[in-house]
Amino acid sequence: MKKTAIEPFFATLQAANPAPETELEYSTPFELLAAVLLSAQATDVGVNKATRKLFPVANTPQAILDLGLEGLEGYIKTIGLYRSKAKHLMEACRMLVERHGGEVPRTRAELEALPGVGRKTANVVLNVAFGEPTMAVDTHIFRVSNRTGLAPGKTPLEVELKLEKRVPPAYRLHAHHWLILHGRYVCVARKPMCWKCAVAPYCDYKPKTPAP
Ligand code: SF4
Repeated sequence: MKKTAIEPFFATLQAANPAPETELEYSTPFELLAAVLLSAQATDVGVNKATRKLFPVANTPQAILDLGLEGLEGYIKTIGLYRSKAKHLMEACRMLVERHGGEVPRTRAELEALPGVGRKTANVVLNVAFGEPTMAVDTHIFRVSNRTGLAPGKTPLEVELKLEKRVPPAYRLHAHHWLILHGRYVCVARKPMCWKCAVAPYCDYKPKTPAP
């Protein structure tokens, strides 16, 4: 993607959705962290279904610890990989209580030190809970960044670093949400819907998918 196309690419996504939000439901940084941790290889809809029951009962690290492993599993067993996620969440809660006074830390290093929290999860928490302009590269962002030529790269980290360089500062805070939503609903994996894509004029992908 030409450098001159990047500004109108994001301006178009912004015009359609000025204040994009995560589709995960949460009301505190800890709820967000827990929801993101549970969402790996699962749908946001599925995670929301489980957390709507879990969070009213336990939405702090100590309250999750008090549930115990089996208690927690009972709330999240509809989510894929729930056993390992429950284990990670319990261990993360223990560390939050022991090292951070039950609060979610605000630095990448401290977040990534938590069990089950990788670079992508840390980026989501830093961006959504704390307003940092991070790029949490998931499968959708990885695909859209490569397909459009916006930030091509062989690994999620390569794409992330390229996005940080190429996305104009005014769009950095919301860029990852716009790209996720675009990838989830328009620039979908199998057959991108180029015929109804608002950013088609700026995208390098060829040939564009014609209308069915
Ligand atoms: S034109 Fe097609 S490939 Fe390009 S961003 Fe839009 S849907 Fe994706």
